[in-house]
Amino acid sequence: MNLNDSVKTLKGVGDKKAALLEKVNIKTLNQLLGYFPRTYQDRTNIKKIKELVDGEEALITGIVTGMQLTGKNYRRPTLRLLVDDGSGLMEIIFFNGRWLKSSFKIGVNYTFFGKAEVKNGKNSMLHPDYSKGDTEEKGILPVYPLTEGLRQSDFRKWIKETLTLIDLEDEHLPKPVIEENRLCPYGYAVKNIHFPQERQSLKIARYRLIFEELLILQVGLLYLRKGNVASKGIKFSSNAGEETFIAGFPYELTAAQERVVKEIKKDMESDSVMNRLVQGDVGSGKTAIAEIALFKAVKSGYQGTMMAPTEILAKQHFNELSDTFSPFGIKVGFLGGNLTTKEKKTVLEQIAKGEIDIVVGTHALVQPNVVFNNLGMVITDEQHRFGVNQRKLLSQKGNSPDMLVMTATPIPRTLAVILYGDLDVSVINELPPGRQTIKTFSITDKERIRLYEFMRKEVASGRQCYIVAPLIEDSETMELKSAESLYEEVRGGFPEFRVELLHGGMKQAEKDQVMGNFAMGEVDILVSTVVIEVGINVPNATLMIIENSERFGLAQLHQLRGRVGRGRHQSYCVLVLGGGGEVAKERAKIMCQSADGFYISEKDLELRGPGEIFGTRQHGIPDLKVADLAKHTKILAISQEKAKALIGKDPQLKKPENAGLREKVQGLFNESLTL
Ligand code: ADP
Ligand code: MG
Repeated sequence: MNLNDSVKTLKGVGDKKAALLEKVNIKTLNQLLGYFPRTYQDRTNIKKIKELVDGEEALITGIVTGMQLTGKNYRRPTLRLLVDDGSGLMEIIFFNGRWLKSSFKIGVNYTFFGKAEVKNGKNSMLHPDYSKGDTEEKGILPVYPLTEGLRQSDFRKWIKETLTLIDLEDEHLPKPVIEENRLCPYGYAVKNIHFPQERQSLKIARYRLIFEELLILQVGLLYLRKGNVASKGIKFSSNAGEETFIAGFPYELTAAQERVVKEIKKDMESDSVMNRLVQGDVGSGKTAIAEIALFKAVKSGYQGTMMAPTEILAKQHFNELSDTFSPFGIKVGFLGGNLTTKEKKTVLEQIAKGEIDIVVGTHALVQPNVVFNNLGMVITDEQHRFGVNQRKLLSQKGNSPDMLVMTATPIPRTLAVILYGDLDVSVINELPPGRQTIKTFSITDKERIRLYEFMRKEVASGRQCYIVAPLIEDSETMELKSAESLYEEVRGGFPEFRVELLHGGMKQAEKDQVMGNFAMGEVDILVSTVVIEVGINVPNATLMIIENSERFGLAQLHQLRGRVGRGRHQSYCVLVLGGGGEVAKERAKIMCQSADGFYISEKDLELRGPGEIFGTRQHGIPDLKVADLAKHTKILAISQEKAKALIGKDPQLKKPENAGLREKVQGLFNESLTL
């Protein structure tokens, strides 16, 4: 028997079952063994009925002494069994249980496993697992994620059989890794992740598998990224005059900005390629940092470019950069999706000839027809919206240009290392002085009248307001406030105000027009979808209302809130909870308590898990089976050191002792990784 044999070698797996297994990517015995339980049932808790504890899972064996179908609904009656084990009586309840009736016989012994309910001296179990006699499996049983047509018992049986057929003595991790980290052998881990002998062995097995998965992930990422980084780059001038440029700002840099500028300066003046991530909360002043880097690049004789995820944002940066740079004779150009063919042609020519020094744009910048004369500095703003590839494509337009990645989504350090393992990280952990905190409230629909009164007061005193909704138009399936219906409601309710609608379904020119009018103060209330989420800067806007806030993640709520509080007026954020469970409430609570993006991102990670928030897949992070980037931060750190050491000593994983590891790395990255 071989790990790569088909699952069809197992008893009871024919073409039909094999096809079902293939749907969850299981073709070989090895893949079957890699299908880990979702959770476990602890059936070591064997109890007498009279010892049952309310709410506790337990295994009971007893004789069925009574059986009846009850309930008003004739077609879907409830099956009730009475069970006696000598110590007491217990009722077993199966809703809609007619079809189960023939499974039981009065006077026969059965074993039940389920959660006991003990109320007023009465014992019961709802929908327990059951089997005849006392043969119901004991011990700690795996519970597999099921797929249509396959049962729990199928997986248990097949995996058990595989474990007896296969010799799992082979160890694929290098021996020193096993020894230094006191990991259990691979065979032990696989056996016990499926059928743990006891709780402790499960723990040991899980630790090994989590460690292994994180190690393999990181070895793979390190390997992948090594190839990306060209070591020799541009050495920018150390007297480009950026000090004078900075002195011309209408404000002093914060200490955090200064520190980051220093880090960037050092990178730029060295002859290795800068790959730097600047993390800074909304409003921390990342644009100024970008401008300084661009200034230095241009004054050293190179072109620079800045890519933003949306047209609106790119336009905003373009306007800002044009204003900043024109006094210095630096020419800024714009490249977006909505230029006319003629405009585009002109811009492309100017870029190619080097007549434009700095090009601001959307992902239109990565298209093949964009050719630079002498690109030396690549900046991407709000990086979490771009894939690694876009970043790479853009920098390939230069000759090993320096790269700066800016993100306003603070990422916990542990995760930053995974997502941006190839980047050095600078953190702007300070806001410019004098920023007020944005007063944040969480309300329900009942308080809408008060909310509208408040909005009336704000707008009447000259301020502007955002209302954000999760959907563009009403949906038949979801009871959510849509931007369109809110727009009608608000326009009707506030005829004295100028209300406009903005959403992603509109034409670019329309969006620009609306956004432009809002920025000019010609619109009082902007009803919008999340298209306004990133970067928009309108200092006179002081009220952010987020409808159906339960539909947004914490990072997104924080981003949205960051659209206000950008000027000198006290600002407010109101979350209108339209439903949602505990998590939604918890999120709202965190938002009301904290304004710290780093804290909020940690919480976001805890509440949702990393895949959902940061688009780990978009970053090229494969799915993980046992490890959880949010939870296993300690193992992550340890395995990270190990991974670095391994790749450091054997960058190609060519040494014989790393052969097993290498194979696993290829497996995790779906063989897309050619080592
Ligand atoms: P973000 O980091 O969100 O991109 P911005 O760069 O848009 O933030 O900056 C937000 C606002 O703060 C802008 O109006 C900018 O002019 C201002 N700003 C930036 N740095 C400072 C500073 N050191 N002192 C005062 N205001 C600043
Ligand atoms: Mg910004």
